[in-house]
Amino acid sequence: MSADPTVEEREAVDRLLDAPLALLEKDSGPPGPPPAPEEGAGRYAPGGYQRMAGRRHMLLPALHAVVDNVGWISRGALNYICERLIVPPAEAYGVAGFYALLPLTERPRRTAHVCDDVVCRRKGGLEILDSLRGRGDVHPSPCLGQCDRAPAVFVQRAGQTDITLTGTDAEQTAACLETGEAPADSPVPLPQRGQPGLRLLRRVGNADPRSLADYRRTGGYRALRRAIAMGPERVIEEIKASNLRGRGGAAFPAGLKWEAVARSPDAPRYLICNADESEPGTFKDRVLMEGDPFALAESMTIAGLAIGAETGYLYIRAEYPLATQLMERALAGARRAGLLGEDVAGSGRKFDIEIRRGGGAYICGEETALMNSIEGKRGEPRNKPPFPTVAGLFGRPTVINNVETLVNVPDIVLEGGRAFASAGTPDSAGTKLFCLAGDVERPGVYEVEFGETLGGLLERAGVPEGGAAAVLLGGAAGVFANPDCFDMPLTFEGARARGATLGSGVVCVFGPGTDFGDTARRIARFFRDESCGQCAPCRVGTVRQEEALERHLGGGEWEEELFSDLAQVMADASICGLGHTASSALGSAVRLGLLGAGRV
Ligand code: SF4
Repeated sequence: MSADPTVEEREAVDRLLDAPLALLEKDSGPPGPPPAPEEGAGRYAPGGYQRMAGRRHMLLPALHAVVDNVGWISRGALNYICERLIVPPAEAYGVAGFYALLPLTERPRRTAHVCDDVVCRRKGGLEILDSLRGRGDVHPSPCLGQCDRAPAVFVQRAGQTDITLTGTDAEQTAACLETGEAPADSPVPLPQRGQPGLRLLRRVGNADPRSLADYRRTGGYRALRRAIAMGPERVIEEIKASNLRGRGGAAFPAGLKWEAVARSPDAPRYLICNADESEPGTFKDRVLMEGDPFALAESMTIAGLAIGAETGYLYIRAEYPLATQLMERALAGARRAGLLGEDVAGSGRKFDIEIRRGGGAYICGEETALMNSIEGKRGEPRNKPPFPTVAGLFGRPTVINNVETLVNVPDIVLEGGRAFASAGTPDSAGTKLFCLAGDVERPGVYEVEFGETLGGLLERAGVPEGGAAAVLLGGAAGVFANPDCFDMPLTFEGARARGATLGSGVVCVFGPGTDFGDTARRIARFFRDESCGQCAPCRVGTVRQEEALERHLGGGEWEEELFSDLAQVMADASICGLGHTASSALGSAVRLGLLGAGRV
């Protein structure tokens, strides 16, 4: 393209990518009109695929660098990024256009994204949007992962670090947009703080997340030393013996993933920590990263060494600025202390961790979409197989686990897999974090042993007077459950037996008098918005089911046959889990009569 970057844009990109590569430097030429482009210029990558592929993974960070400094991505900025990274402009445009937080049209230097998702919309989010309606710098947003401190607003601030306002209102949001200033972050509510028996949450609120010394004082990095002494094979044996299953929703045994990658003859191998928790109602991984960031750094290091990776990626959603800062700080501290880098803790082994920020796309929580996102492509899920353990990031064997899954690792290494597996049930070992929000007296993250009943968990959080009318279990991709289900044990198998899912641990509570039609509408819109559009069943199905819901809420009969057909086709023929589960919550709401008893 012929567009040039501004000085500010150029500097933002250069700061990230260092000095321009000599090969890419252009002769500015004589003054006068720019020469006519050669035929085909800009439509291919000079130097071929290999050169392009080598730098493409910096595309998302480079786009972020421009937005962080300027507020939006102009054609000139995009052009300059493409020159520096040897990426065809059409491809880079397609990538930038995929993400909600990387705008390609000019906008103010500060922008507020007001959460209007299932919790915040009932806790003041809609009032904020109403009050600030018509402003070009205020937009509605899907869940920001702050449901325990609703309503939440995420503010992108060019030239300053982005910030999240919690428990906020229209006045404070407007003031932040005017001045760029915001009050200090409100403390994370942690209802179980100080209670005995906590594993994953034991340091949260009790140790300084900025202090490596504090982390060590509370037992930190003992597990890494032990893991190094044990060696990779024994570590993997213990993870297998622990029966640790993925906490992101799929519940796949972590030890099997680790073993498959460790045994692969292919190299290099990669570790990814999925911290893109975007399922509406989920905020537990944020609490772990903000409250105990060194635990994640240590866990990733143990995992990386066990599978023979030298590089780990921590992919954090962009809407988590505080978690990102604290993780950056923890990784830098670990690096300075020799706990990451060329010789991890004197082991002679190399391992380091890079942070990658998402761009505001729910689908990037899907493991292969996340890998495409790191590679600098649109965050579209891949067909499986091949699975990531065979051909994952950059086509190499990759272990991907989420934050909560990984943070279990140090205890398994220290106590042994069998001891870990003695908690919970044979099929659901250990403890589980649940995100309680909505109509409860004490919202927050709760850690309970697998097997506690749903009703027991609700009691801990304080159910509203008159009880809970229903809960949304597992988030937008989960199901509604009514009081008949409150005796359900919270285990993978217990949920499965009742046609439910624990998903990412969402327990969103709705008290009597809830307008479930409004909630269902928001969920339908969420899937329509967040479908990546790659496959027809999901791209079309999510729109058609939203239309059917709208007709029903407008007074029409529920079109059961149409809805069932759509649900079946999306479940059978979609590429990824988003399409597979897009109708689950709506279907359960209908079955329970939440959308108008008697009309279904
Ligand atoms: Fe994209 Fe939906 Fe297909 Fe998944 S199911 S690949 S989100 S269109």
